[in-house]
Amino acid sequence: MTLHIPFDNSFARLDGPLFARLDPTPVSNPGLIAFNHALAEDLGISGTDDAHTLAQALSGNHPPEGAEPLAQVYAGHQFGGFSPQLGDGRAHLLGEVVTPQGRFDIQLKGSGPTPFSRRGDGRAWLGPVLREYLVSEAMHALGVPTSRALAAVRSGDEVIRERPLPGAVLTRVASSHIRVGTFQYFAARRETDTLRTLFDYTRDRHAPNADGPEALLAATIQKQAALVTQWMGLGFIHGVMNTDNCTLSGETIDYGPCAFMDAYDPRRVFSSIDRQGRYAFAAQADIIVWNMAQLASALVPLMTDEEAAVTRFQSMIEEMPDLLRHEWLTRFAAKLGIDAPRDEDGPLIGELLSLMHKGGSDFTNTFAALTDGSARDEIADRAAYDDWHARWQKRLEAEPDAQDVMAAANPRVIPRNHQIEAVIAAAVDGDDAPFHRLHAALAQPYDARADNHWLRAAPAPDERVQATFCGT
Ligand code: AMP
Ligand code: MG
Repeated sequence: MTLHIPFDNSFARLDGPLFARLDPTPVSNPGLIAFNHALAEDLGISGTDDAHTLAQALSGNHPPEGAEPLAQVYAGHQFGGFSPQLGDGRAHLLGEVVTPQGRFDIQLKGSGPTPFSRRGDGRAWLGPVLREYLVSEAMHALGVPTSRALAAVRSGDEVIRERPLPGAVLTRVASSHIRVGTFQYFAARRETDTLRTLFDYTRDRHAPNADGPEALLAATIQKQAALVTQWMGLGFIHGVMNTDNCTLSGETIDYGPCAFMDAYDPRRVFSSIDRQGRYAFAAQADIIVWNMAQLASALVPLMTDEEAAVTRFQSMIEEMPDLLRHEWLTRFAAKLGIDAPRDEDGPLIGELLSLMHKGGSDFTNTFAALTDGSARDEIADRAAYDDWHARWQKRLEAEPDAQDVMAAANPRVIPRNHQIEAVIAAAVDGDDAPFHRLHAALAQPYDARADNHWLRAAPAPDERVQATFCGT
C-alpha cells in the first residue's frame, strides 16, 4: 500500500524566485512515532495503515506521488534586527491539498539542507519535533488558529546540538507558510513584480475579498490581533515572534522555545536567547503591532501613491493597540463569565491578575477554579480575594450565562512544560508511551471529565522548566 495524498500544488506553479525546488535528503532507518489519522482523513489522505510506508514517505525518503518538494525563501526581523535572507533552511513544502475547509500546505520540517540553510544542518532533533506536535495539536483543541501536526518520524541519524541527539522529521500542515518575512524579502530587494505575484497569490488564498494591499493589511491586522489575544487568554508565550514566524493566514506557526505559563507573571520569558524580554508574555501585544508595521512597510511598494499609502498605513497601525485592548477585554471578560464586556471590566480583570501575580497563582488552574467556584484556594491573599470575589459576583448578576461562558473560555488542561520535557526524555530513551498518553489527555481541554490530577499538577520546584532552549 502506498500513501496517497491528492496534491494540487498552486505555489509550485508560481513563476519567479519565490522558492527553490529540491528533494528532501533521506535519513537512515526512519521509524513512525505518530500519525494523525483524523487530520489525514480531513485532508483526503488515504492508504495510511502501514507504519513502514508512512515512515518512508514522511521522512522524505520516498515523497508521496504528486509531491513537488520546494523550499520557500523569506527574510525577517529576528529580535528586531533585519535578516535579508532566511527561508526554509530545513523544511520542504511537499505540496497542497484542497478540502472543504480550504487549501492546506503539507510540509516536512527537519528534512535536510536547502539553499537557505546558511550554517544550519537542515535537521531537527526529536525534542522540538515532539514539542511542536503536542503543542500545535493542543492549540488546535483549544480552538486557536494554528499549524497542525500530521506525523512525527524518528530517524536513525544523530544531529549535533549541545550534544548528539536523535534526529526526527515533523510533517506540518498549515493554511499556508506565507510570512510577513516573505513580503519583506521581495520589498527589501525592490523586486516589485514578484512582490505583486506574492500579493495576488496571498490575497486569493487568505483574503479573497480584499481589493488591494490595504485590505489585505487590514485583514491580517484583524487576524493577528485575535490570535495574539487568544494566546494571552491561555497563558501562551510564543517565544520567537520574529516577522518570519508571523503568518498572513493568522495561524500560530513555528513552535520553538514556546510554553504555557504555570505561575502567572506578565514578564515571563522561556526562550534562553530572549534576554531583553522582547517576546515576554505581556509584550506580545506590543510586538504584534510592530510586526504588522513591518508588513505595512513591505506592502507600500505595491501602492501607486506611496506617500499617501504610508500615511494611511500608519494610521491603521496606530489604531491597532485599541483593537488589541478590545480583543483582550473580550477574551479575559469571558474567562470571568462576562459575555458583554464593559470598560469597567478592565480593572476587575486587572485586579484578579495582580492578585495572581503577587501570590504566584497558576494561570490555568486559577481560571479553571473560577469556573468551579474554588478560586479562593488558588490565591495567596485570601482577604483581598474575598473583596474581589464580592465585586465579581455583583457584576455577574447581569450575566445570565456566566457559567457556560467561563466553561468555554477556561481550559482545564494545557500542555505543561515539565510534562513535555518528561515526554521528550522518555522518547530519547526509546519509550513513546508518555508522548501518546499526554497527546490523548490534551484532546478535550475544556471538558470537565478530561480534568485529572496528573495534568493539573503545576510543576514542583525541582520540575520547573526555566527555559525552552533555542537549540531546536
Ligand atoms: P526558526 O528559529 O526555527 O524560526 O528558524 C529561523 C531560520 O533559521 C529559518 O530560516 C530556518 O529555516 C533556519 N534554521 C533553523 N534551524 C535550522 C537548521 N538546523 N538548519 C538549517 N536552517 C535552520
Ligand atoms: Mg521560523
